Amino acid sequence: MSLLHLLAAGNSITHAIFAGRHLLIRPRIRGCKTLKVLESVQFRVMSPPQDAVVVRDPESLRMKKAAIREASASKLQVIADFDGTLTKYWNEGRRGQSSHGLLQQGNPEYDAKRQALHDYYHPLEYSPTIPMAEKTKLMEEWWEKTHALLIEGGLTLNAIKKSVSGSTIAFRDGVVELFKLLEERSVPVLIFSAGLADIIEEVFRQKLHRSFKNIKVVSNRMVFDSDGCLVSFRGKTIHVLNKNEHALDMAAPVHDKLGDENGLNNEYNSVKGRTNVLLLGDHVGDLGMSDGLNYENRIAVGFLNDNLEKSLESYREAFDIVYVNDAPMQGVVELVTELCPGRILYF
Ligand SMILES: [Mg+2]
Repeated sequence: MSLLHLLAAGNSITHAIFAGRHLLIRPRIRGCKTLKVLESVQFRVMSPPQDAVVVRDPESLRMKKAAIREASASKLQVIADFDGTLTKYWNEGRRGQSSHGLLQQGNPEYDAKRQALHDYYHPLEYSPTIPMAEKTKLMEEWWEKTHALLIEGGLTLNAIKKSVSGSTIAFRDGVVELFKLLEERSVPVLIFSAGLADIIEEVFRQKLHRSFKNIKVVSNRMVFDSDGCLVSFRGKTIHVLNKNEHALDMAAPVHDKLGDENGLNNEYNSVKGRTNVLLLGDHVGDLGMSDGLNYENRIAVGFLNDNLEKSLESYREAFDIVYVNDAPMQGVVELVTELCPGRILYF
């Protein structure tokens, strides 16, 4: 009998498989601390349990929920990361693509040049020895060089459409349900990404086949000429280390001056007055997305997609709720239903 069969034979413990490791998780026990690695295995099964959730402090969460519900949906906003948070980390047994990673600019020489930059800078991003100020400079360098290559290599709108249609990027199950619910409740959603807004919006068009009037993407935004060729980027570069609500401060005046078609500035003013936050992220650094906001209550939901055994403790400390195993968005849908039980008819 394989390890998988032995685990499945248990009756009170749910088995979970994450990144090739088997884990034992007690389902939906408030304040659950039981999560231990049982044994490494050589194969990966992509059918994780849907209730792999860890809550550090159930009482604190209960109080935050009560305060947010009491203040009503008109005070709530959602701030979400995109890659690995709204999208699946694993897809059909393979690592899911990111909004940056899926881009093929129709020019193999430039795709290779961007890949070479990635190979050089990506390890620096995760280096524990480089001081933050230096790392921030390196990230700026990486993003700016990449953006320059996209312009120089002649990126077109068509190449973006083709890249998205040929990609394996996929939203987590339940994301549409979540967006519909938030739209019904007139709760704005800001999606913060160090990727490319034009790609994220194309992913919405092609993978969801609809748009949502309450969703704004705050990310690096491209300017195309009348032939659909990329000519420049708008605003200050948003990279992985400055991706927080200050990025919105930096981006808003520029978007306004350039006549941003998304009306970011109006939304920006409206979200500043919404002092309860539901934050969704897949890195501890995503918590910085609400830094510029003087919020009253914040519920932070973390999706722990990788390095579960090494990272669970830090995620458990940082987030109010942690989902593991590439869980679907259903738990967040239920949370929003709790936070906003009634229909609000004004925005
Ligand atoms: Mg992410």
